[in-house]
Amino acid sequence: MGADHQSDRIQGRVSRAQRSIAIVGAGMGGLAVAATLRRAGFDVRVYEQATRFARVGAGIQMMPNSMKVLRGIGLEEPLKRVAFSPYSHLNRVWDTGEVTNELPMPESLYGAPYLCMHRAELHAALASAVPAEIVHLGKELAGLEQRAGRVALAFADGTREHADAVVGADGVHSKVREMLLGPEKLSWKGRVAYRAVFPSALVGRDIGGSRTKWWGPDRHIVIYYTTAKRDEVYFVTSVPEPAEWMTRESWSAKGDVKELRAAYEGFHPDVCAALDACPDCHKWAILEREPLPRWSEGRVVLLGDACHPMTPYMAQGAATSIEDAAVLARCLVEVNGDDVEGAFRRYEAHRKPRTSRIQAISSANTWMRTGEADTAWLYGYDAWSAPLPEGVSS
Ligand SMILES: Cc1cc2nc3c(=O)[nH]c(=O)nc-3n(C[C@H](O)[C@H](O)[C@H](O)COP(=O)(O)OP(=O)(O)OC[C@H]3O[C@@H](n4cnc5c(N)ncnc54)[C@H](O)[C@@H]3O)c2cc1C
Repeated sequence: MGADHQSDRIQGRVSRAQRSIAIVGAGMGGLAVAATLRRAGFDVRVYEQATRFARVGAGIQMMPNSMKVLRGIGLEEPLKRVAFSPYSHLNRVWDTGEVTNELPMPESLYGAPYLCMHRAELHAALASAVPAEIVHLGKELAGLEQRAGRVALAFADGTREHADAVVGADGVHSKVREMLLGPEKLSWKGRVAYRAVFPSALVGRDIGGSRTKWWGPDRHIVIYYTTAKRDEVYFVTSVPEPAEWMTRESWSAKGDVKELRAAYEGFHPDVCAALDACPDCHKWAILEREPLPRWSEGRVVLLGDACHPMTPYMAQGAATSIEDAAVLARCLVEVNGDDVEGAFRRYEAHRKPRTSRIQAISSANTWMRTGEADTAWLYGYDAWSAPLPEGVSS
């Protein structure tokens, strides 16, 4: 960095293209924020610990609130071509199949479509929104040091990089969060999520044109297609589990299909048909966390699961991470001089009330089970235009 640039920085004259932002983690939130910041003109680099992108076997729902962000980075049309477009959120009683609540989801209702897809399709789309050369694989963050308005990043392979600011988008086991706030507090309520994606031909019946949540007394299962062609089915459950199994959340931990089928014995034939058809399954420990006291320190800020991990029950974890990406870019664009720290506080001030509310509702797991729910605040939200708080600065 030259003396002129240093002096510009001190006087708050650093242009966006001169401001370098390092993003730790190339998951859903990391790639989304790389795309929004690049579009805003920043010098962005992404550091991901994995040496390649694996195809995690899972479906993912993208609600209208996140689809608006994806539209802004050019991904709505490509995703519409491959994804399943459910007619509604359909809620049914586990054994009789009685409909307890249905929310049709036409694009006109919240200003964007509701899509369900394979998680790998969404990840690939997000990766396509940033130039491959700015994503550095095999870079596991090991340390961070802030000095004189710069942040040094140390990686496990012994290399170091520097940036003007760092975004910790390193997921539920975030090392950046640990560096900022110390070890996290976890709570285990004895529940796991089984999940599987497999060809719909194996099921031998149509699972319906909606995303269906089947509600049992102490467990549920969500089933939907993941492709526009409806040739792939996904389900994800929440079911009680003896305490011994508790483990860190892992996308690769396997489950036992026989135990899974036994857990859903007596459920409606449509559910049993899907469970009988699934060749194998994965298992994810559902852990709960309270909102964090703060999301940033100096020029390091958290995003996505790193700062607001939530249960999967409202299908909002990735969606809120993607929302974060739009709001963080807006706050950095509107930065006052060199006040990156103030921009991070403004981002948190806007985002935290919303994500804390979603965390709490998601944890309760009653969302849309019965009756009318106020859904406009959730799905109608537009991260590109929602008013940002005034008067939050350093
Ligand atoms: C079963 C299940 C179903 C779900 N369904 C939905 C759904 O339908 N809709 C929805 O919106 N959300 C859903 N979610 C939530 C969603 O998966 C997460 O909220 C989302 O992936 C969070 O994005 P992220 O970028 O914060 O983290 P991640 O996507 O987990 O990405 C974090 C990245 O950081 C990398 N990383 C970690 N540590 C380091 C390090 N030290 N150095 C460098 N890189 C590092 C990781 O390798 C990873 O690539 C679901 C979750 C589960 C478990």
